[in-house]
Amino acid sequence: MIFSVVTCIFCKIGTGEIPAHKVYEDDSALAFLDIKPHAGGHTVVIPKKHGETVFDLSQDDVQKLMLSVTKTMQRIQYVLNPDGFNVGWNHNTAGGQVVPHLHIHIFPRYLNDNGGSMHSIITNPGNESVENIAKRFQKK
Ligand code: AMP
Ligand code: ZN
Repeated sequence: MIFSVVTCIFCKIGTGEIPAHKVYEDDSALAFLDIKPHAGGHTVVIPKKHGETVFDLSQDDVQKLMLSVTKTMQRIQYVLNPDGFNVGWNHNTAGGQVVPHLHIHIFPRYLNDNGGSMHSIITNPGNESVENIAKRFQKK
């Protein structure tokens, strides 16, 4: 069994203890329909190895996960034929993460569906200038 954290809701979906509507599966990842969809076909992709965030995965696992996300998108494209996608994940509580098992959200998008883009997630640039932030990157 790859899923190992018995209290984790997404590990329980992985083992079949909690049912879910599967969209795609391979050796390292499982994709299923989100129970509270924000778009028709809203899907989450989880790695089969439990980790809270992408920082808890090995480089190899992250590479495999990216491939699984792409394959899931291809499957959604084939079945639902959306006009576009938004793909991303909420990282930590500040980023809106609720379930502590890394999961990548895939939102199928349709022209004139009244949704926004990634840019609408946060519109608070703070007081520090771009130049100042760039300097901090140069210093470290
Ligand atoms: P996040 O805020 O990124 O942690 O999102 C967690 C997502 O998991 C939400 O969109 C939930 O609707 C979804 N979710 C929680 N429980 C289930 C479940 N049992 N089956 C499918 N999706 C779920
Ligand atoms: Zn888990």
